[in-house]
Amino acid sequence: DRRLADFDPTVYTAVRAELERQQSTLEMIASENFAPVSVMEAQGSVLTNKYAEGYPGRRYYGGCEHIDVLEQLAIERVKALFGAAFANVQPHSGAQANAAAMTALLQPGDSILGLDLAHGGHLTHGMRINFSGKLYNVVAYHVSAEDNRVDMAEVQRLADEHRPQLIIAGWSAYPRQLDFAAFRRVADQVGAYLMVDMAHFAGLVAAGLHPNPVPHADVVTTTTHKTLGGPRGGVVLTNREDVAKKVNSAVFPGQQGGPLEHVIAAKAVAFKMASEPEFRERQERTLAGARLLAERLSAPDVTDAGVSVLSGGTDVHLVLVDLRESELDGQRAEDRLHDIGITVNRNAVPFDPRPPMVTSGLRIGTPALASRGFGEAEFAEVADIIAEALNPAYAPSLAAKLRARVAALADAHPLYPEL
Ligand code: PLP
Repeated sequence: DRRLADFDPTVYTAVRAELERQQSTLEMIASENFAPVSVMEAQGSVLTNKYAEGYPGRRYYGGCEHIDVLEQLAIERVKALFGAAFANVQPHSGAQANAAAMTALLQPGDSILGLDLAHGGHLTHGMRINFSGKLYNVVAYHVSAEDNRVDMAEVQRLADEHRPQLIIAGWSAYPRQLDFAAFRRVADQVGAYLMVDMAHFAGLVAAGLHPNPVPHADVVTTTTHKTLGGPRGGVVLTNREDVAKKVNSAVFPGQQGGPLEHVIAAKAVAFKMASEPEFRERQERTLAGARLLAERLSAPDVTDAGVSVLSGGTDVHLVLVDLRESELDGQRAEDRLHDIGITVNRNAVPFDPRPPMVTSGLRIGTPALASRGFGEAEFAEVADIIAEALNPAYAPSLAAKLRARVAALADAHPLYPEL
């Protein structure tokens, strides 16, 4: 029963160093967030010890009386949050949730139609060496070169031509909202299931600041750790009882053994948090921050350097910076921001001429900083720091000044002071 610092100082020291990194830098990776201490408390609890194969009330192990209460609570809360009739809260991750939904609805060899990875889709939407690309016949739709928005005419054309069994709407890197009703119409015309993967924007949906896909889709998948701000994990939602039954058996015993009940308890805490007024207020700041960033990066001092904002703005929690016309590539831009204390990820933009390890884009998100308490004034300052760093006038001699501005923002909004 020795504590971590004592028993394994190597691990302890690395964990403390990571805490220090999170505290002293500005986290702008669009898929990341800061789980509150209450969530981490549940996740770091004795629930990690318990086997609970099965579902509440139907377990293959004894001693599940408290586990059942917690898992049922998570189910009821997430159903209420998104207005869904059925929920499975057991997927270990977003990728597992997608694998379960696809296993439930498809046979190997069936066709799926999803957004191309290079245009903002996710690995699990049909990437060649992902399970989705290996098990299914993948057809990919794209954004249009004119406005960088999903080309619904192409979706319709590809659906007519390939008659997929499943159409996937959802993205990992896309700054706009999708038209779920339009996807539904296409799916109905070709007799396909519609799956919406709302992993990125689930927090906005929960807050009522983004259209809810649940009424339109046969199945909705999500992660719980991005805009939703909970523990790392996945969820599957549906309004269809037949689909719910197939999903449940696809998750267990189809894909997983014992559910991570400590994570499920933490999900329950996150769903409570997401139903409260402060959560909506946080998501409003998230959106305002992304808008301010898009505006600042559209100013002449930035655009003169060939830097622009993909699709001209954002409706969500992220901005995609387009560096195709800039001398600066995604790798160097990411490194430059890292050097001044801002963490982002380089990201291919549609029709990217540079190789995937370099890219011509940055994906910059605001959820983590909004969780840290940033409002419009702070986001305007961050946007200005980023604009100065991407500016052609940037010189390494400027780095110290920008680093100091980053540190001032971090200091003014302490993260996890209780830790
Ligand atoms: N779906 C989308 C749209 C995502 O962006 C991601 C993660 O980036 C996932 C699924 C996978 O989630 P996880 O990393 O938890 O497997």
